[in-house]
Amino acid sequence: MVEVEEQHQSWKTDFYLELPKVELHAHLNGSISSNTMKKLIAKKPDFKIHDEMTMIEKGKKRTLEECFQMFQIIHQLTTSPEDILMITKDVIKEFADDGVKYLELRSTPRRENATGMTKKSYVESILEGIKQAKQENLDIDVRYLIAIDRRGGPSVAKETVKLAEEFFLSTEDVVLGLDLSGDPTIGQAEDFLEPLLEAKNAGLKLALHLSEIPNQGKETQMLLDLLPDRIGHGTFLNSSEGGSLDLVDFVRQHRIPLELCLTSNIKSQTVPSYDQHHFGFWYSIAHPSVICTDDKGVFATYLSQEYRLAAETFNLTQSQVWDLSYESINYIFASDSTRSELRKKWNHLKPKVLQF
Ligand SMILES: [Zn+2]
Repeated sequence: MVEVEEQHQSWKTDFYLELPKVELHAHLNGSISSNTMKKLIAKKPDFKIHDEMTMIEKGKKRTLEECFQMFQIIHQLTTSPEDILMITKDVIKEFADDGVKYLELRSTPRRENATGMTKKSYVESILEGIKQAKQENLDIDVRYLIAIDRRGGPSVAKETVKLAEEFFLSTEDVVLGLDLSGDPTIGQAEDFLEPLLEAKNAGLKLALHLSEIPNQGKETQMLLDLLPDRIGHGTFLNSSEGGSLDLVDFVRQHRIPLELCLTSNIKSQTVPSYDQHHFGFWYSIAHPSVICTDDKGVFATYLSQEYRLAAETFNLTQSQVWDLSYESINYIFASDSTRSELRKKWNHLKPKVLQF
């Protein structure tokens, strides 16, 4: 019996690993694995940093506030263009190893006076990492969304939009859009409307974290009025705590896809348990939903694991899981030609993957 059980387990693991996947919500610094973290810590021995400060183990939880503190610790370890290049290459390689075929990484450009890193060289290091991964022929197509951290306020946001516009024009379809993220308790959406609108008018796509915490109905509607191309989390859109039917209707009417990150929401305690995750609601009404990791390093997860968790929690069949992954291609920010290439790849792999 035990043997059968074990075989069953590995059969399942293989299916989720072999399943070609699209990752659309991955923060670069939060995606750093423990292996890469060890390399970073070795470079900065004066720093007394250990595992629990940068990663939440299985079964453990933190408050959202504690999670944001973890990011600040991680930022102290990634301070030079060389660090950024290394983490970008490692993160891309790990996603590729997990069967991710298309990845949109997001990250806030950071200036570090001590190392001479500028926001521009930060962005360039990520682009170099993407380029090197391509040269190594990894089977993964990687793009970059430049992120606005709410902490910086409107003036920094404006600067970031300028930078994003510059790279949007100078890179060939690598910088595709903007992300609004960071501690949702800090700042007001109102402050970011103008720069976000400017970015949208310049042709940049918008992926906005919204409704991550309860009772933000007004701010959520303001951000939704920008008609973002995708929503990060949207945890409380359909909740009695500050969500509303109007918000849900708006999102449905405009068919704005949701990036849903199960383990992230459980471990940062914005959702009490997997079975209460809002994936269940949005999936049940056939709304565009994309399974993502958010911060695979901090939350100690993988995209294949997130698919498995969603499937096991909400009783999805293999073919439903396949469709979920296939449909996520519709919501990528790259062009139609990339979409067709990915669909071709998926269709080619389908007989092999579904025979499991
Ligand atoms: Zn996020």
